[in-house]
Amino acid sequence: MPSKPKLASPAFDATIGLGSNIGDKTANIYEAIRRLSAKGDIRVVARSSVYRSAPWGVADQDWFANACISIATELSPRALLKRCQAIENDMGRVRLKKWGPRVIDVDILTYREDTIREPDLVVPHPLIAERGFVLVPLNEIAPHVKISGCTLDEHIARLDTSDLAILP
Ligand code: ATP
Ligand code: CA
Ligand code: CA
Repeated sequence: MPSKPKLASPAFDATIGLGSNIGDKTANIYEAIRRLSAKGDIRVVARSSVYRSAPWGVADQDWFANACISIATELSPRALLKRCQAIENDMGRVRLKKWGPRVIDVDILTYREDTIREPDLVVPHPLIAERGFVLVPLNEIAPHVKISGCTLDEHIARLDTSDLAILP
């Protein structure tokens, strides 16, 4: 008897969320994506549209540009976190205020099917389900991903995403 076809596994290892609200926001996002793939050990599989979004958490700051990418990589979650943070630092990120203005933010959203709960690394990223600016671009490139047992569509349906607009 022929064996059941295996479900196709997603063609990526991790998803990354990017945000910027200082300077040329869209250019900052593209530059961070370029830097992620510059060493040859991370391949960008797909990139979402770049969205304009209202600030989240700290209202009194400029609007954000946000995007998500999916990547193929053999880097461990921790090595990937280090790479994300090095790019943030190299691009001039200064941490003055939690959820405050930033040149670039690079977060690991998901890593394979892994659940990681360490003091400095939580995967899936703990606030995905509360953030339209993550869910909507992530849904473009990884619609099968589930967070806390629900699809991205189900999470999006509970949120007001009227602040989001695709940037040219
Ligand atoms: P938020 O994490 O709510 O999106 P933020 O991105 O502004 O806020 P940062 O100042 O960039 O927060 O990061 C704070 C810490 O979050 C980092 O030092 C990092 O160790 C930790 N962290 C935990 N999980 C993750 C993850 N999945 N991706 C990126 N950083 C993470
Ligand atoms: Ca973040
Ligand atoms: Ca971050």
